Amino acid sequence: MQDSSRPIDLDEVERAVAGITEQMRASEQWGEVSTRIEALKEVDTHHFGMAILTRDGDIVAGGEADTPFSIQSISKVFSLELALEAYGDELWKRVGREPSGDPFNSIIDLERHEGHPRNPFINAGALVVIDMLVEKLGGEGEVTAVIDFVSDLVDGEGFGINEEVARSDETGGHLNRALMSLAKHFGNFRCDIDQVMDAYVHQCAIELSCRQLARVGRFLMLEGPDAASNRGDPARCRARRIMSLMMTCGQYDGSGDFAYRVGLPAKSGVGGGILAIVPNTASIAVWAPGLDANGNSLLGTLALELLTDRIEWSVFGGIRTQ
Ligand code: GLN
Repeated sequence: MQDSSRPIDLDEVERAVAGITEQMRASEQWGEVSTRIEALKEVDTHHFGMAILTRDGDIVAGGEADTPFSIQSISKVFSLELALEAYGDELWKRVGREPSGDPFNSIIDLERHEGHPRNPFINAGALVVIDMLVEKLGGEGEVTAVIDFVSDLVDGEGFGINEEVARSDETGGHLNRALMSLAKHFGNFRCDIDQVMDAYVHQCAIELSCRQLARVGRFLMLEGPDAASNRGDPARCRARRIMSLMMTCGQYDGSGDFAYRVGLPAKSGVGGGILAIVPNTASIAVWAPGLDANGNSLLGTLALELLTDRIEWSVFGGIRTQ
């Protein structure tokens, strides 16, 4: 694993990104596009983009690194950061910190645990986190807070919220509505369900390119010019904790396999994006819209696996003998 004292070999990173991009473009398997959101069904699976921001401020990009895509559940990392900042450890009274072993939108576990979601990255948990933010900031206030957060980290560069995607997420969001109702039944949901739904689908509908997403992710890097450490110890502490949840729960029921193959804390979205962090070292965004059976980007995961095979960035160490 890299530490902050070990220099980053930019040539090595550039060679790896160029090689992986070429390999991904030649792939014969692209996965299946999400059927969960009607407006995303039309997206062509034949896209691949990748961007790596290092702690030195260099960006290495490959493929369609400037094409915006729907970040979807990756936005749950941003709302979690904002809620942890606002509530501190109080948050853990409402949401757990354990992997679920169920699909991202499963309802089964929520009944078993009396409305207490297993973690903040499955939909039930993310919706309770957003309920907390909406309670504090109001529905539009929550969306504004997430947008401001993203705007700051992309250095004021423009990005969009796709209204059609938001609407279609909302219209098809029966299960999400059921999750909120069940949490409310058990007394773990305070705000109006429609208001939280509106905030949720809008933050999910944010569109960023890989280059922009890698820049936003730098708040989780522990070292570097704009890393968490520069915002003080509480931000550094949150980054460490959020990354632990990304490692154990960030790819839903595929988190174990992802840790085994890639070895990095990461968060996926059904738009085909993945944000992965190399602690102290780099923020990485990949995008390929075709998904695997767990709803994680098929080629995005493969690209990250190849990357940590080539560069010793897995938090579990390198695999080369020399
Ligand atoms: N908005 C999507 C949903 O609620 C997000 C899911 C995801 O990216 N895994 O179904």
